[in-house]
Amino acid sequence: MGDEAGRKINLLGLTLSELEEFFVDLGEAPFRARQVMKWIHQMGVYDFAGMSNIAKQLRARLSEVAEIRLPQVVYEHTAADGTRKWVFELSDGARVETVLIPDGDRRTLCVSSQVGCALDCKFCSTGKQGFQRDLRASEIIAQLAVASRSDPMGAPRAVSNVVMMGMGEPLLNYEQVLPALRIMLDDWGYGLSKRRVTVSTSGVVPMIDRLGEDIDVALAVSLHASNDALRDELVPVNRKYPMAELAAACRRYLARHQSLEVGRRRITIEYVMLAGVNDQPQHARELLAYLEQVPSKVNLIPFNPFPHAPYARSSRTAILAFQKILLDAGLTCTIRTTRGDDIDAACGQLVGQVEDRTRRSERWARQVARTQDIIHRSSS
Ligand code: SAH
Ligand code: SF4
Repeated sequence: MGDEAGRKINLLGLTLSELEEFFVDLGEAPFRARQVMKWIHQMGVYDFAGMSNIAKQLRARLSEVAEIRLPQVVYEHTAADGTRKWVFELSDGARVETVLIPDGDRRTLCVSSQVGCALDCKFCSTGKQGFQRDLRASEIIAQLAVASRSDPMGAPRAVSNVVMMGMGEPLLNYEQVLPALRIMLDDWGYGLSKRRVTVSTSGVVPMIDRLGEDIDVALAVSLHASNDALRDELVPVNRKYPMAELAAACRRYLARHQSLEVGRRRITIEYVMLAGVNDQPQHARELLAYLEQVPSKVNLIPFNPFPHAPYARSSRTAILAFQKILLDAGLTCTIRTTRGDDIDAACGQLVGQVEDRTRRSERWARQVARTQDIIHRSSS
């Protein structure tokens, strides 16, 4: 049975054009793709038998060759502030997390793109796990599919916004992330507006250009530092693609879509606030100078501590002072509220109970312990 299921094609992760191709290959009319897409993504019907506008014979044929398979939800919880979290177990046992954050009219889903991450940013618990594997498009869309049908009040749109800010670097899993984004935007899929789907990247410059060529979605850049020396340390991918190249890529991304837009578009700059590391007034001023080259709005993220993290969250006073410098210069600058703390669900901190297969975090913990030991001995 397992083998048989494995041979069937999972329609969950197919874009409209891929689904059209699938139907044409079956000798059917391409418009079937639109019908099936609507059943899957808008009606949440995963059994072909329930797709009433499709002829019985075709439904039978479909269940022979295809399936709509979601990973198993192994954990589901709602925090006191309404934040919801799901942990999915994939077919190979790997686990990923998804968080839905309600905020006024908005219900933002924070979606994972990889199991773990190879980029090893120093303040990120996903980075500490190391890289396990890329998610498939179907596994990315499954997160949205499950969350979309999660509203106990039966609201038609349980998810209004998607941010690719869960586990992993979306632009390093581009082949699977791109179709998932297309399904999110497609009128026959989730029909989300391009302004409400955000890809967050730590700055994989060539892939920012690819993304701009292929699709029009909002872009967030995890900057976290105001100069290359600091960023080399915090976000190691900066050694490959330094800040000047990143700014140029952001400008190209905006320029590509600008002419089609009425309003002015901007890049969201994410900046994690690490006490004493990147949160001083001189960093704010340096950041301002850098952002002169990039139409942007800044989102300050209070650091989310995790075991053995070598950083502390900046004080409220430091964050407000940093924000004031940016605001006084005319920049839009918000402070992200920490959400869902009681279920370890803050966006960008989705590691909770996910296993560490690489043992990187153990090695890291030992290294931190050694360093602390050295500091302790040299100061006593
Ligand atoms: N890899 C992508 C997307 C996932 S991380 C990226 O780096 O942009 C989503 C956001 O959460 C990023 O801005 C990331 O830097 C931030 N983040 C990671 N660890 C964090 C932590 N411990 N506290 C606060 N923000 C964190
Ligand atoms: Fe990967 Fe993003 Fe974490 Fe960096 S911040 S390690 S790119 S998930």
